[in-house]
Amino acid sequence: MTDNQNAAATCLDETRFDVMVIGAGIAGAESALKLGDMGYKVLLVEKEPSIGGKMILLSKVFPTLDCAACITTPKVSETARHPNITIHTLTEVETIHRNGDRHFSVQLKKKPRYVVEKDCTGCQECEAVCPVITKDQFQFNLTARKAVYIPFNIANPRIALIDIDNCMLCGACEKACPSGCIDFTQKEQQLQITAKSIIVATGFKLFDPISIERYGYGRYKNVITSMQMERELAPTRPFNNVLRPSDGKIPDKIAYVFCTGSRDHTVGNPICSQVCCMYSTKQAQLLMGALPMADISLYYINIRAFGKGYNEFYLQAKDMGANYVKGKIGKITEKENGNLILRFEDIATGKVTEREHDLVVLSVGLLANPAIVKAFKDEKLELDAINYVQQPNMLQSPAQTSIEGVFVAGTATGPMDIPDTIMSAGAAATETSSYLTRLS
Ligand code: SF4
Ligand code: SF4
Repeated sequence: MTDNQNAAATCLDETRFDVMVIGAGIAGAESALKLGDMGYKVLLVEKEPSIGGKMILLSKVFPTLDCAACITTPKVSETARHPNITIHTLTEVETIHRNGDRHFSVQLKKKPRYVVEKDCTGCQECEAVCPVITKDQFQFNLTARKAVYIPFNIANPRIALIDIDNCMLCGACEKACPSGCIDFTQKEQQLQITAKSIIVATGFKLFDPISIERYGYGRYKNVITSMQMERELAPTRPFNNVLRPSDGKIPDKIAYVFCTGSRDHTVGNPICSQVCCMYSTKQAQLLMGALPMADISLYYINIRAFGKGYNEFYLQAKDMGANYVKGKIGKITEKENGNLILRFEDIATGKVTEREHDLVVLSVGLLANPAIVKAFKDEKLELDAINYVQQPNMLQSPAQTSIEGVFVAGTATGPMDIPDTIMSAGAAATETSSYLTRLS
């Protein structure tokens, strides 16, 4: 069974595809759409319950301050409704074997939703009666959710699922569901498909700052990550305002710590995240709009505003009143009232200085997400020195990988911003198309 019933109606064989795209974030969706528009039959595989990746969870994008969801949602809907694209959510790629010269044989594992996809209307009656409250990973643990839930307001498909690890099997959702679509008998499915080519669009992982003990993330409630702040600023945000976690107070003095887990050999990630200077600058501008009386200080090593309009965007934030301080934070300590003391060397004065803030946002970096390598059984998908997919011919053929017929798109190749991700996905679609033309 597939998520998009339209595709199921038009595709005669649901096991044979021209292209399998692994990962339905913005890179995977863009590649799938481009190839679908060219007439290729595409399978899009996503391990999460919704397509859209991390971009669908963002507030606005830099440097235009366009609403991220307003860009992502139509693209995601178009992908879900496209007659040439079949989507499997909650699905992981287990094994990929080369089957002769022209095909890959792929085994997929599709986890059960415990909800009959075609019957669920997304009414959320089940959520209202579920007695279980657990952390909401789509709000980056800022709020709670039920054991039966729709991941977020604009999830696609908008279908409930049951977190069986936290479910008490009380049956309340089954009784409340007007469509009668809760189904505890669903089992994990093994699916076999073939594809002539593959695009790896598995994206990145966010750096977990818990490993930098001196910043206190996980111990100090008012030290949050930039992704948590992103959710606080998003239109689909958990609260109706920006609040600090310890006491729900509206913060007055907010600090950003740039390069958290990037450009840092001690945490094994020596490279620049490419985005944290600019997304922090974007959040600073949004915060100055949301909380006009708040002081926003941004502690940085260097400002890397390399893209079109980025330096102007940075200067605009300064003009609006954002306080950029050159100095790497050495240590953060917590006061009894939940406020935080930041200790750093102020590069302008050469002095070690301490400043107090009531909320600290760690501008976390990006890490490689190399798990897919294990699925390739006959040939090795080569990675670079920091575990991103190797591009053996980066200048002439940026989507090419070490395996013929396997291409790569977006941040699976390394950190990049959204415009570069879209361009990379377009390049992957073009290279895949010319490969398929050569094959036929
Ligand atoms: S059966 Fe599970 S998901 Fe359904 S209401 Fe009870 S605890 Fe919640
Ligand atoms: S599972 Fe039933 S109650 Fe829950 S959202 Fe779907 S239709 Fe509504």
